[in-house]
Amino acid sequence: IFAAVEMAPRDPILGLNEAFNTDARTDKVNLGVGVYYDDNGKIPLLAAVKTAEKARLEAMPPRGYQPIEGPAAYNTAVQNLLFGKDSHLIANGQVVTVQALGGTGALKVGADYLKRLLPGATVYISDPSWENHRALFESAGFPVENYPYYEPSTRGVNFAGMKAKLEQLAPGSVVVLHACCHNPTGADLTEAQWSEVVDACRERALVPFLDMAYQGFADGIEPDAVAVRLFSASGLQFFVSSSFSKSFSLYGERVGALSIVTASKDESARVLSQVKRVIRTNYSNPPIHGGAVVAAVLNSAELRQMWEDELAGMRDRIRSMRTGLVENLKAAGVAQDFSFVIQQRGMFSYTGLSAAQVEQLKNDFGIYAVSTGRICLAALNSRNIGYVAKAIAEVVKA
Ligand code: PMP
Repeated sequence: IFAAVEMAPRDPILGLNEAFNTDARTDKVNLGVGVYYDDNGKIPLLAAVKTAEKARLEAMPPRGYQPIEGPAAYNTAVQNLLFGKDSHLIANGQVVTVQALGGTGALKVGADYLKRLLPGATVYISDPSWENHRALFESAGFPVENYPYYEPSTRGVNFAGMKAKLEQLAPGSVVVLHACCHNPTGADLTEAQWSEVVDACRERALVPFLDMAYQGFADGIEPDAVAVRLFSASGLQFFVSSSFSKSFSLYGERVGALSIVTASKDESARVLSQVKRVIRTNYSNPPIHGGAVVAAVLNSAELRQMWEDELAGMRDRIRSMRTGLVENLKAAGVAQDFSFVIQQRGMFSYTGLSAAQVEQLKNDFGIYAVSTGRICLAALNSRNIGYVAKAIAEVVKA
């Protein structure tokens, strides 16, 4: 039965990691990853997480099955972060939240449910987008198309193009939007632009699907939720996938959630019953540990403060790497203006480096980036930033 099976294409970013791991150079740097590293180049284990884990280990709770949708303590904490603890939608019972296997799992459950709800819809993703968006929605059975997003000449958003496209879409089209810290470009919408997107979604009866993978990595937990809050105030129904992979540094624990805003408490009950069927036939119910740790942190005033401080530390370090890179590039004699790197938000920057320049960085310096020119600022640190800047200077001058 396997004789005719073809080899599937390698994941481009995981392939990059494999090449990096086998590179023998000691000064090599991997800027291709989508992970936050601390200044020592390590993935941090947050003190708030450690404290919550220690308490769990001591309590040694039994490991029965969780509810299909995950525990209320977790789902409520997720809702408060996304919608604000005073949200009228939460108070009215208009938000359905289910625990999911990371942000990816949330997108997958959402996509599978949407396919049952709107089988004839087309899904629109930003050009460019996180590469898994297309694959996820296609594998749920949807045709996936792009809306204009990134404008290379300004290194910002082609908002006129984006809006014009949204205003042409068929009613019932699903629009996947990066709530903050756009991956891969780092270029986000302003609050005023978000309001226009909300209006376009209302006018065209579109189905917004906000992907919030980096809450707290741009300006802070509350300001980064601006898109969710504007959609919340709009009276529209929408989907939100969210992830604690980055904000809690819990990548491998697979902690995320899918939230769906409905028009009423009664609708919520029916929607939840359908989403539970999707989950039940996929993985039955979510794992315990990661969600329990996140809930313990978010539901304790003391641990929550600890986490907020640690999250601010990660955010500030990325910012200082942005300014540091721009300064180091200048110091290395680069005439080209790289100040857009400071404007971009989240972990990534579309640097404008060409595929050939990225290749040269790898071959000549052992510096690995995505061929599109995307680099992860959180992989820079005080030891490698000067080396990286000098290398970039060499390839842009060449
Ligand atoms: N959406 C976006 C935009 C992302 O960048 C990522 C992670 N790189 C995800 C979703 C998935 O997150 P998780 O690792 O929690 O599945």
